[in-house]
Amino acid sequence: MPLVNSKELFKKAYDGGYAIGAFNCNNMEIVQAITEAAQECKSPVILQVSAGARKYAKPCYLKHLVEAACEDTDIPIVLHLDHGADFEICKDCIDGGFTSVMIDASSKSFEENIALTKKVVEYAHAHKPYVTVEAELGTLAGIEDDVKVEHGAESYTKPEDVEEFVRRTGCDSLAIAIGTSHGAYKFRPEQCTRDPKTGILLPPPLRFDILEEVSKRLPGFPIVLHGSSSVNQEYVKIINDHGGKLVDAVGVPESQLRQAARLAVCKINIDSDLRLAMTAGIREHMEAHPDHFDPRQYVGDGRKYVKDLVKHKITEVLGSDGKAE
Ligand SMILES: [Zn+2]
Repeated sequence: MPLVNSKELFKKAYDGGYAIGAFNCNNMEIVQAITEAAQECKSPVILQVSAGARKYAKPCYLKHLVEAACEDTDIPIVLHLDHGADFEICKDCIDGGFTSVMIDASSKSFEENIALTKKVVEYAHAHKPYVTVEAELGTLAGIEDDVKVEHGAESYTKPEDVEEFVRRTGCDSLAIAIGTSHGAYKFRPEQCTRDPKTGILLPPPLRFDILEEVSKRLPGFPIVLHGSSSVNQEYVKIINDHGGKLVDAVGVPESQLRQAARLAVCKINIDSDLRLAMTAGIREHMEAHPDHFDPRQYVGDGRKYVKDLVKHKITEVLGSDGKAE
């Protein structure tokens, strides 16, 4: 099935009370794991590519990997640029066959964010076929490839800004900051409480009041959550039990993401959880089979872990299983 943009998918997700998973990819095994999982769950899926992934794999390799996934499956797949930093990278992706792009001018002033987003929207919407555009208001803490914001420098989205922003830019969806964060260390220990039994950090709750206020002001409009890995502790434990050292890695609880998916959130970005699953599979394999040296054996185990994780996200967190009609 050919690539699609996110317009129809988000409309159905909004009305149906679920969200579409946007999973980051940068190699063949990750593309296969995500799309095979989505195929088995009969779920639409967004494959997203960051500037860092384009640098790592080269744009032409990624494009053909995603085309191969489209050939191999019959589910709707969106190819989306994650965190486009300027007009040029968005244009390059639109011209190169992406069906959706994000322009992230959230670190600029309100007026500059509007001007740059509008420029990308005009180019994307004039393109045939129509390319959807995600924009962002508010900033998340944490690190994701080239996007770095210190903890304490993040800012929640101001609900009173959203109507003017969407009206003046014409964007198709909006990423907002309600307390999610990029990376596998989403919260500093002092922001959390510590479970006295397990010693695991319990993160502060998401600001559902902001989400509700935003969706009241933008009825029917798709909202996006970035930085929404849950840093499932089973994978952190496998990694740490097999030679890894991830201290106080903590994410957003899946129950809160499920709740957001029932509301106006139509796209949930998941990257770190895939990295953790891949690393857990590889570390476990390496320790169990010190004699193995064929990358297909250990990377294959990593791929299996990523696939299982994506199926879990689709059925238990996003609620998008069976929606690929
Ligand atoms: Zn992000």
